[in-house]
Parts: sequence; structure tokens; C-alpha cells
Amino acid sequence: MSLSILLVDDSKIIRKVIAKELPSIFKDRELKLTEAADGNEALEYLCSNSYDLVFLDLTMPEKNGYEVLEALNEKGIKANIIVLTADIQPEAEKIVKKLGAVGYIRKERPLNITPLIEILQETGML
Ligand SMILES: [Mg+2]
Repeated sequence: MSLSILLVDDSKIIRKVIAKELPSIFKDRELKLTEAADGNEALEYLCSNSYDLVFLDLTMPEKNGYEVLEALNEKGIKANIIVLTADIQPEAEKIVKKLGAVGYIRKERPLNITPLIEILQETGML
């Protein structure tokens, strides 16, 4: 069965880097990838489709990642969201988890996929 993934980040380069890693993480699964470049676009997709997994950036134009999570809560929309961010705010992890994100990963260069694999295993997605 194919896995639908929504990739939300205002950086096209970051989206490209993550998209490139996904096939090696999900091995032989067919991936259906959708990309959103800001919080509003992400919400539009999330309100009209369901995804198996969402990667969410925090710092974005229109609506930031926190606002996207808040809006989803208000609308009662549940999703498997992993926050992927360069935000060094110490409370960020606590806040996004309180808002319903299943995982929080610091964006690094090069992207370290080990924490991502751990979260996917913990949540039963791998
Ligand atoms: Mg950003």
C-alpha cells in the first residue's frame, strides 16, 4: 500500500533534501509525496486530504508551524506530524508535542536521519 506524505517547509532546498531521503527510509513502499511551502498551503492540504505522515517546519511565512498545529486542533483534525526545525528555542519540543506532534527533530546539515527513523519506529510507521 502506498504511503502518503505531506512535506511542509518554506525552503525548497530542504524539501528536496528530505524528499531524497524518503525512499531509502521507507525502502520498497510506494510513496505519494505532496509538498507545501507555507502554513496556509499546508492547512489547505490537511483539511481536504488525509496523510499517513506529515513533516512540518516551524518557521514559515503565512502561518508558522505552531499556528498550523493550533489550527488543526481547533478543527479537530488529527495527523501524524513530525516537526522538523532549525528552531533552537528550548521549549519548542515541549510546545509542539503538547500541540499534538508525534515527533520533533532538529534540522541539521547534513540531515541526520537516525532520529527520524527512531520516531517512525516508535510510532509504528516503520
Ligand atoms: Mg522554514
